Amino acid sequence: MTLVCHCEDCQRQTGSTFSILVGVPRAALHLDDDKLAKHLTLGTDTGKERQRRFCSKCGSPIVSLLAEHPDLAFIKAGTLNDRSWLSPTLEIWCDSAQPWLAPPANTQRLGRGLTAGSVTSAGRVP
Ligand SMILES: [Zn+2]
Repeated sequence: MTLVCHCEDCQRQTGSTFSILVGVPRAALHLDDDKLAKHLTLGTDTGKERQRRFCSKCGSPIVSLLAEHPDLAFIKAGTLNDRSWLSPTLEIWCDSAQPWLAPPANTQRLGRGLTAGSVTSAGRVP
C-alpha cells in the first residue's frame, strides 16, 4: 500500500506539504533502536499514539507506527533508495491538504485519516 498523507503532523515533520508512505507488515520491518529517535504524537481523530521514528543522526523521518494499526508500519517513502516504483493509490487527510496542490489521478481520497479496521489485512481500504 502506497499512500499520501496530508495531515498537519506530516506537514510539520516533513517541512513540506505531505508524506508519501508505504505500509508494510510490522513484523517484516526491523528497526534499529540505537539509530532511530522517537517523537510521540496523538492521532487527531483517534487520540491514539503515533510513534514517529527518525534518524537520530540526520533527522530524516523514517517510519511511523500507529497504535490503531499495530500490524502495519508506514515507511516514509522519500527515504527509500529506489523511489521510482512508488505510485500512491490512496490519499488521506485531504481535508488539511494545501489548497494549491492538485490531486494526482487515480487515487482514492479520504477527508480524514485511516481508522481502526479501515485497512484490510491485504493493505487495502475497503
Ligand atoms: Zn500524516
